[in-house]
Amino acid sequence: MLASPFPAEDNELSSEIDGLVRYRGDPAVDVEACYECGACGKQCRLLHNLRNHIERVHLSLGPVNCVACGKTFVNKFSLRKHVLRKHREQAHILK
Ligand SMILES: [Zn+2]
Ligand SMILES: [Zn+2]
Repeated sequence: MLASPFPAEDNELSSEIDGLVRYRGDPAVDVEACYECGACGKQCRLLHNLRNHIERVHLSLGPVNCVACGKTFVNKFSLRKHVLRKHREQAHILK
């Protein structure tokens, strides 16, 4: 198994993005819209563009604050990691 070039946090974000991607059809057949955003229905021909859209519009909602200690994080994924690590007993504060 090859070592990932990305830190674990990026992989987590990446899997969240892919969780919102809907594949609509074969690019060779349906050239207009091959991928659809599972959150808002936006259609993109290129997976790369849709992933950018999802990250920018739906996942980059930061900065967010930890309600337990007040630290600021760039997005909810960083916050979730922090809470699970530092305030595991308060994991219910995660939305
Ligand atoms: Zn969207
Ligand atoms: Zn905290």
